[in-house]
Amino acid sequence: MKNKSIWLETKKPKTNASLNQNIDVDILIIGGGLTGISTAYELKDSNQKICLVERNTIGQGTTGNTTGKLTFLQAIKYSKIQKIRNQKISKKYYESQIEALKIAENIIQKENIDCDFIKTTTYVYADAKKEIKKLTKEAKLLTKFKADIKINNNQNFKTISTENSFVFHPLKYLYALEEICLKSNIAIYENTPIISLKKINNKYLCQTSNNYQIKANKVVIACHYPFFLFPFFMPLKSHIKQSYIMASKTKEYKNISLITTKKTISYRYQKQYKIFLANSHNIANKLNKKEQFLKLMQLNNNYNPDYLWSNKDIYTNDHIPFIGLIKPNLYLATAYNAWGMTNAILAGQILKDLILEKENKYKELFNPLRNPNLKTILKSTLNITLNAKSFIQNKIFLQKSWYKYVKINHKTIKVNNSKQVNNRCPHMNCSLIYNEVEQTFECPCHASTFDKNGKCIKGPSKYDI
Ligand SMILES: Cc1cc2nc3c(=O)[nH]c(=O)nc-3n(C[C@H](O)[C@H](O)[C@H](O)COP(=O)(O)OP(=O)(O)OC[C@H]3O[C@@H](n4cnc5c(N)ncnc54)[C@H](O)[C@@H]3O)c2cc1C
Repeated sequence: MKNKSIWLETKKPKTNASLNQNIDVDILIIGGGLTGISTAYELKDSNQKICLVERNTIGQGTTGNTTGKLTFLQAIKYSKIQKIRNQKISKKYYESQIEALKIAENIIQKENIDCDFIKTTTYVYADAKKEIKKLTKEAKLLTKFKADIKINNNQNFKTISTENSFVFHPLKYLYALEEICLKSNIAIYENTPIISLKKINNKYLCQTSNNYQIKANKVVIACHYPFFLFPFFMPLKSHIKQSYIMASKTKEYKNISLITTKKTISYRYQKQYKIFLANSHNIANKLNKKEQFLKLMQLNNNYNPDYLWSNKDIYTNDHIPFIGLIKPNLYLATAYNAWGMTNAILAGQILKDLILEKENKYKELFNPLRNPNLKTILKSTLNITLNAKSFIQNKIFLQKSWYKYVKINHKTIKVNNSKQVNNRCPHMNCSLIYNEVEQTFECPCHASTFDKNGKCIKGPSKYDI
């Protein structure tokens, strides 16, 4: 059994050098996941000097650990947006997802990308009475939007399905775009973390961890969770959820993918493997990771997976991602609410238009600085409460369990009883939890993740431990 994603194991990255000099560019893109690479790809013919920097290796962040479904059927997303915003906004989001599917299809055809891109029937499924009621509402809304869906009412369950959806190998797609970007003279540097961002005389000045400076007229933050607190103040506007995934060989390949209304279970097939996801929860809760992996296997009735991994994504208060300008010449694209395949591909086009000062019909929908309303403010309060809960529980309970008291020369002293040397997250000093299955140290406050050697592999932390 491999304790990593099926994508990371079946498509190896090419390596790019790290930055070893100060540089001056028109556009700097920070982050080499699907958002950063899609943005670079869209800007490749813009006659701008572009540079993309990646903290570790391209594609090994959230994108390398996804489940790779491309669909506009996103559980009961449209009723959720309608409830918090309104029907017009919900319809606009629906249109954006249909457009994202077309963009993906066009790019794959135009560039002749071999990425196991397959048209698949997606089902949203509900069986409990309460969930069926929610799915009925979603079906009504999608019918109003004239969506291409089928509704199936069975005695014990209900489904909405569409044939207009796809699955793919996210890294085969990503690395093909990376190759095109490199051929178009976009500079890509790996192992180059950005640790600070300042504005000096109309230019942004970014400092890398190995003390080089990048000056840029425009900067795109495509690093998933921003590494700075201000100006955007992400913790107030979002929360993070973790899910557990397994891939196991199966003899029953089906060309379908399925999501339940609560999105607690979903699955798809990749060649001879069934990829099964379950057990999503706020990272502030359920700190025993081994237990969560066991629950995943139990739900799939299979204790012998070939691949086992987890992944975390950022969720917004109104279920709509943040894509757009957050300060003059500073752009952000993130928080896709676990639907980042369509949204990151779309973000590339939106950011291209904004950077090149062209109109884009989704500018207002995804505007990261959109006004809050009473419902999103209430959600912010919940986010703060959960963050505070995690922080306090973390300080009081976790830290205690990681120390033991021993008597030496009649004196009681506290010694570190944990497996790591330093068990604090460099981001905000929270205690880290050990994930035995993936052998990582994880922060339950803002999801920074460190490998067994203390190297930061995910999250807002700018430093290793
Ligand atoms: C369990 C799970 C399943 C999912 N399944 C699906 C699905 O089926 N379909 C779908 O549409 N979406 C899915 N998603 C969502 C999707 O995977 C993500 O939204 C998407 O991959 C995010 O891409 P990204 O490029 O924004 O982030 P990432 O892929 O995380 O890329 C960000 C990059 O920035 C780098 N970075 C970070 N900080 C710095 C820094 N300071 N300097 C330089 N580089 C930095 C990171 O190393 C990373 O490589 C899923 C998410 C989860 C959690």
